[in-house]
Amino acid sequence: MSAERVIADLRELASLTSTADGAQRLAWGPVWRKARAWFKGKVAEIGLDVSTDAAGNNWVTLPGRSPRTVIVGSHLDSVPNGGWLDGCLGMMAALEALRAHSSAPPPATLALVDWADEEGARFGRSLLGSSAAAGSLKIEEVRDLTDREGTRLVDALAENGVALDRIGDARRQLAALDARAYLELHIEQGPVLESLNKATGVVLGTFGVERHMLRFTGQAAHSGSTPIPMRRDAFLAAAATALECRQIGLRHSKPGAGVVCTVGVVNVEPKIVTAVPGVCEMSLDQRALDADVLAAMFKDAREASERIARENHVGVEWRRIWNIEPRPFDPHLVKLCEEAVREETGDAPRLPSGPLHDAAEMVPHMPVVMMFASSSRGLSHCKEEDTPEPHLQQTIRAYLRLVDKTLAHVAGA
Ligand SMILES: [Zn+2]
Repeated sequence: MSAERVIADLRELASLTSTADGAQRLAWGPVWRKARAWFKGKVAEIGLDVSTDAAGNNWVTLPGRSPRTVIVGSHLDSVPNGGWLDGCLGMMAALEALRAHSSAPPPATLALVDWADEEGARFGRSLLGSSAAAGSLKIEEVRDLTDREGTRLVDALAENGVALDRIGDARRQLAALDARAYLELHIEQGPVLESLNKATGVVLGTFGVERHMLRFTGQAAHSGSTPIPMRRDAFLAAAATALECRQIGLRHSKPGAGVVCTVGVVNVEPKIVTAVPGVCEMSLDQRALDADVLAAMFKDAREASERIARENHVGVEWRRIWNIEPRPFDPHLVKLCEEAVREETGDAPRLPSGPLHDAAEMVPHMPVVMMFASSSRGLSHCKEEDTPEPHLQQTIRAYLRLVDKTLAHVAGA
């Protein structure tokens, strides 16, 4: 019954907050507020209240026999023209966990959280509410953000009762909980589980990222008059480096610990059909779950680019754009998650998360684990986002098992 009720709630929310183009629950806007008001009504049905912290995160607490607390949650906001499951699946499953325990106090306290502005779709800063609660948000880095219409983040927050200068108080509010575990159910948003024909996966952590711009500098020259061996073609050096980086990625991949790397931007100068490119800039985004593997991939790519540059008689410079360390999840919670998934589905595939999630912000503060439901065709952040209903049901049941196992573990620890 439980899983069917979660799916019915998801469909009800989708019908209230979607257009023909998909979900429209953009953070800090009217449709998002409508979704949260609807959710508050669902919480009231089980006799509980919603409270809001200094960052606009919504909390519901169900006191247990112990003050030790298991946090369950995700986010109700979506990208424009988004899907019906991203964030909401985790929210409705967490609500169902509260419902399941509302008639008698659970062994440990259960707290539900709806993080504000996970997507960052409007102002470009993802994980806003959870990073404020984690204490990792730097106010000065977001103070001047505006959306496409020119509305300032600080004003959009104020419209929702959040004062940017006091957003860090959310950290104290989280610290006041005796939090011992954070559990988040989410859709995979990628094709791995579907390709294995599995409903549910155990998430090992979120990828670390090394993101750089590489600038190859050779010499622009006439394409008709310059013999091939005499050229200093910056593009060909970049292209050979891109191919080599793919080999480096494949070499560092292990079963269950895949890594990824992507060249997403390539610019050449002077960009004339009759000129040998004298300059080529290219982006390289490398991701891995293991910090040593990520460091090795980065070193290998750097050495390869320098060797290839020499072979092509060009120079190469690296500039870091962004990086984040991997956030591995708690080994004991991963084990409980594996048990829960195996009991429900007969198997427990393990996989890393390529996308970041609010869960990553909780990793420095408490044991964390996530569970993934398969994504049809790997699609997300679009109206085609879906999971086959039998997979949804199995995954929701596995998640509720994980909540119970974690409550018992935390109470007895
Ligand atoms: Zn999400």
